[in-house]
Amino acid sequence: MPRLIIPGIPLAFKTKRIRDEFLDAPLDPRLRAILLEQGWHIAHEYGYLYELTDLIRTRSEQRALYPNDPDKRSVHEFRRGADGVIRGFEKSDYRLIEAWTNKYFPYQKAKYRTCKYHDIGHGAHLHNQVTSISAMQDFFSDQS
Ligand SMILES: [Zn+2]
Repeated sequence: MPRLIIPGIPLAFKTKRIRDEFLDAPLDPRLRAILLEQGWHIAHEYGYLYELTDLIRTRSEQRALYPNDPDKRSVHEFRRGADGVIRGFEKSDYRLIEAWTNKYFPYQKAKYRTCKYHDIGHGAHLHNQVTSISAMQDFFSDQS
């Protein structure tokens, strides 16, 4: 399958839609920044290309993915979730990316993580997420 790239950006995009969402849709800018940093890290430290496979999800797409759980919501619906793969990576390599991301980009809410490597029935991938803006503001106000 051809992978869409943009010269100068260390990411590939599974589809044109995903590329357009990354560039033009109001994807949460904190998430976009994390994905770019991950892409640079993966390219620079490992020499691999990070491919984004799922960004923004509509309500009906979310329901189609989880037909047995129609009330389940996802950060992807709120433009705060991103999935990606690194073709050729082993599980242990993914675990290193997961640890690196959570070290430098901690999730600003207890009990959650920014980056998870998992397979919830649709293929193993890296899932990245950021908190809601209000949760982030609470996090920083607690620090002062
Ligand atoms: Zn995801």
